[in-house]
Amino acid sequence: MPFLSLGLLPTLAQAASALGFTDPTPIQSEAIPAVLTGADVLASAQTGSGKTAAFALPLLQRLQELPAENRHQYGRAIRALIVVPTRELAAQVGDVVRSLAQAQALPQSPKVVVASGGVSINPQMMALRGGADVLVATPGRLLDLAAQNAVQLATVRLLVLDEADRLLDLGFAEELDKVLTLLPPRRQSLFFSATFPPDVRALANQMLRDPVQISVASTELPPADITQRAIRVDTDKRTQLLRHLIKDQGWKRVLVFVATKYAAELVAEKLYKAKIYATAFHGDLSQGARKQVLAEFKDEQWEVVITTDLASRGIDIAKLPVVVNYDLPRSAVDYVHRIGRTGRAGEPGLAVSFVSADTEAHFHLIEKRQGLSLTLEEVVGFESTQIATPIVPQVTADKGGIKGNRPSKKDKLRALAAQGRPPV
Ligand code: AMP
Repeated sequence: MPFLSLGLLPTLAQAASALGFTDPTPIQSEAIPAVLTGADVLASAQTGSGKTAAFALPLLQRLQELPAENRHQYGRAIRALIVVPTRELAAQVGDVVRSLAQAQALPQSPKVVVASGGVSINPQMMALRGGADVLVATPGRLLDLAAQNAVQLATVRLLVLDEADRLLDLGFAEELDKVLTLLPPRRQSLFFSATFPPDVRALANQMLRDPVQISVASTELPPADITQRAIRVDTDKRTQLLRHLIKDQGWKRVLVFVATKYAAELVAEKLYKAKIYATAFHGDLSQGARKQVLAEFKDEQWEVVITTDLASRGIDIAKLPVVVNYDLPRSAVDYVHRIGRTGRAGEPGLAVSFVSADTEAHFHLIEKRQGLSLTLEEVVGFESTQIATPIVPQVTADKGGIKGNRPSKKDKLRALAAQGRPPV
């Protein structure tokens, strides 16, 4: 059994195969043996790479290996803490850890608790009575629980920070600092992130001791089995084009990204009126409603879910065939995360971006960051009538830049993109 050769106990290797994992993914092959040595790990891995099992499997094994007298030493002791950025990811990671923990056929399977905001804290406090072997939590709710003495973090032996870049993107830096002060200095820490901008690096340096560094493939490049297409269309024709494509191409399950919650509602409503089962998914929905939409989408009860970047990370919808960028993402990194919702775990996927005259220059910037060069297609009946207006910074001889300062790196890139030239 390939998982056995990574040093996993037979019970855990079997638990992996019970979930249908036959061969380890690259991140699993690298991370599992490293975590099992007890070392800190710094892993560069994107969602869809199998990173959850890459930390969950060895984490469960480490918990079995740790001396039994540490178990529930205090009333509310936590032995392994997994910090994640969103409620959805908390639920998802919790499911994976729980399934692996339960599939192990141990006399007493490890207790796994998930705690995130947006729902009442009381059931979570109840669940944490007597402590937990594994707690999966979002930072804010974790601090609330700690403040109410519902968790004892000084006993944590293993810490996992999942999607560290996303945690910082969402403004959790302060909360993470506070969480770190509640943890014991002697612990094993695992740090997973898709990208490593300076603030993420700084956090990793603060958290880790001589980490084993793992990087599988290029983390900023989407998997090769995603077909990427770009279609030129006027802004006000996008909903019609989307409708047309859904019908014409026979798309059965589509995740559509828009820029705002309002747009998500509006587009969903228009599609619904056109007899396409579409609904919106965004941060204004209650936690219960969000869970329900996701479950129904997975169940194929919705054909189309229109969402904001809330769904761009950490959401795993098996065999999602199509992702559409109705509005372009703000950055190339967001682009990768969005299109990474499709083509997961070896399944083919399709990512389609709508590009209009006023977003064309921005799209070329994303393409450049991704090393892509897509043909801007046109769909018969939806040909673009607007002309792309290049974003050219008003650079003067001695003083340039839109704000009257020297042109920034972005200004220069935009100018080059507008002229169709690669950056020097
Ligand atoms: P993750 O990156 O952890 O979100 O995992 C992405 C998807 O890959 C999930 O649907 C997992 O169930 C699946 N997966 C994880 N590990 C494996 C594996 N070794 N073989 C096949 N599928 C896997």
